[in-house]
Amino acid sequence: MGNILDDLKTMLEFYQALGIEGMHFGPPEPAVEVAVSGDRELLLSELRQEIGDCARCKLSGGRKNIVFGEGKPYAKIMFIGEGPGREEDIQGRPFVGEAGMLLTSLIEKKFEEIKIERSDVYIANIVKCRPPMNRDPEEDEIASCRGFIERQIEIIQPEVIVTLGRIAIQTLFDNPKLKITAVRGRFMEYKGIPVMPTFHPAYLLRNRADKWKTWADMQKVLELLSGHS
Ligand code: SF4
Repeated sequence: MGNILDDLKTMLEFYQALGIEGMHFGPPEPAVEVAVSGDRELLLSELRQEIGDCARCKLSGGRKNIVFGEGKPYAKIMFIGEGPGREEDIQGRPFVGEAGMLLTSLIEKKFEEIKIERSDVYIANIVKCRPPMNRDPEEDEIASCRGFIERQIEIIQPEVIVTLGRIAIQTLFDNPKLKITAVRGRFMEYKGIPVMPTFHPAYLLRNRADKWKTWADMQKVLELLSGHS
């Protein structure tokens, strides 16, 4: 019964955030302060320099820009997707297309209570260059690039990681058998950091009925961070 009530509460909160008025659930504890340090900024900048005009895999041939990642060096939350799409490739920034707008909206609605906006999190991808026709990155491409996202995690040391979609969680745990439908919504652990696997926003654009599940996953992340504040 508890789980059903929790799911119902989550769905109501989701629809409330969409602007559909309903029950109000009391505000959780405020406020997370996000510190900024030059050291992590410098380390990220050095890593970006190390990547340089990378040609370590065949994705280099078709890209317009390397999409390194962006956000606060001291972010409490790090979002990891699989790779840049068309708009990201053009702009050189992660999650700026339609799926990016959905992710931004999700972050700003869900984490408003703890004063976290998109600019307060860190967002990056497993591969830094766009796979042609938005296909999945291939094994050799992931193998060539994965060291960079691992270093970004080491530098940023987020309190929680949210992986977006199948490729990100499979890569992080080096397990191609992980199914997103089986693992989403439950915390895993990567080098001592809690990891919440959830759906990729591009999937949610095609499957809008599943949006509330990602909303529920983010609620768990919110509760984790609120417990830390
Ligand atoms: S995807 Fe990664 S490894 Fe491949 S060229 Fe781009 S930056 Fe280099």
